[in-house]
Amino acid sequence: MIRYDELFAATSKKIPNSNAILQRAQQTLLSSFVTGPYRFPANVIFVDHGKGSKIWDVDGNEYLDMTMGYGPLILGHAPDVTIEAATRAVANGTTYAIASEPEVEMAELMCDAVPCAERVTFCNSGTEATMQAIKIARATTHRNKIASFEGGYHGVHDTALIGSPITSGSGPMDSPTSTADCNGIPDNVVDNVLKLAFDSDESLERIRLHKDELAAVIIEPVPSGYPVNMQDFLTKLRAVTRECGVLLIFDEVITGFRCGYGGGQAKFGVTPDIATYGKVMGGGFPAGAVAGSIEAMQSYISSGDIAQDSSDRKVFSVGTFSGNPITMSVGAAVLRHLRDNPEIYTRMDNLTAQVKHELNQWSEQKGIAAKMIGENSWFMPYMGETPFSHFRSAKDPAHTLRNVVYSNYMRHLGVYIPDLHTIFFSDAHSQADAECFVETSKQVLAAMQDQGMFDSRIEQELEETGT
Ligand code: PMP
Repeated sequence: MIRYDELFAATSKKIPNSNAILQRAQQTLLSSFVTGPYRFPANVIFVDHGKGSKIWDVDGNEYLDMTMGYGPLILGHAPDVTIEAATRAVANGTTYAIASEPEVEMAELMCDAVPCAERVTFCNSGTEATMQAIKIARATTHRNKIASFEGGYHGVHDTALIGSPITSGSGPMDSPTSTADCNGIPDNVVDNVLKLAFDSDESLERIRLHKDELAAVIIEPVPSGYPVNMQDFLTKLRAVTRECGVLLIFDEVITGFRCGYGGGQAKFGVTPDIATYGKVMGGGFPAGAVAGSIEAMQSYISSGDIAQDSSDRKVFSVGTFSGNPITMSVGAAVLRHLRDNPEIYTRMDNLTAQVKHELNQWSEQKGIAAKMIGENSWFMPYMGETPFSHFRSAKDPAHTLRNVVYSNYMRHLGVYIPDLHTIFFSDAHSQADAECFVETSKQVLAAMQDQGMFDSRIEQELEETGT
């Protein structure tokens, strides 16, 4: 296997067209990788097309894709269900900003599938969904503060970028402090966020302490940055929020229609007041939704008369493309397909469990600190010096470096995984794809071990070689 210090140049030779496009991108785009951030140096590929579990770059190289658009592509790339529904919808016009039946069909499907959903409203991304859910919760409760979990991801609006997975964490492990993740976020937004720790009883006590100021607690039922099963904690969180009169929001942008058709709330048997959606529900098109009980969403539910809503000071939230007929038609077709073929979930979950089991057992035998952690059909490779026990484990510098090296090697060998991110299976992945992932991972991890990358000096050594 090629040594890591020669990898960048070797990959670069295989992707001349991507390299040329990257140079152009750097002249005009604010960021050449809005949808796929890399740790540099890295070989950035530009995708030409995808089908099933595969993608091809603009140089004609084929990759087994384990990114799946960060999760929405639950049926793989360009599945017949999506192509047929999209083609039919596009032929009838792409958007009206006038009511159309597909939006109602989609709402019916979601209200049938989602335990907390008595009403639903649509938008165009997960970011928009969590932003609206938070506004609705504030308006319903007439309180300003939101509690969220350090390392939880809810998109890129201001409130979501306080202690998101890009943070390194600040303050005590069990009672983190609120800090903005980037410039541009006003101090009063930071002051209105109470940061909690996942899976910690102290978080429950802090909710009790702040209950009079808190509009809602928002949590991913399976956090992207801490992908472990928190069944007990979610049950306790439901009890405490109910006891305190604080709304509970599940951010189901990843878990919705992925960890089973009923999402995280059905899997864990915990029903929140409000839930947010994106990814899978759009069938591969930009989508978002907020669903919840009539009581929790009373501040938003419209009388249908704009003047009346305005005098009632109802939450105002509309969008040019919200509920557009393309997303709604394709989303509904994909949801119906998932509802009618529940074996899809069993198959994806089994493939994921197999990959996690085989690789974890093999790594343990070899004395390699690599562990695949996750739930249902997605997982994350964790490569820290100490076992994964807290969101801040993922900030271990050894994990960061090893994960980036592993990802670069995997891409070089034709398995596309993103740096430092979750890996997704889809219904398009076969048993052979799962075996390919396992065998390629073994080759890469063994090569990394041979080069001393699982020794504890890894950080210093990589710095010395400038990689
Ligand atoms: N919430 C969660 C749990 C997410 O995983 C994401 C996206 N990764 C978002 C919100 C934001 O969604 P979007 O990227 O569509 O804005």
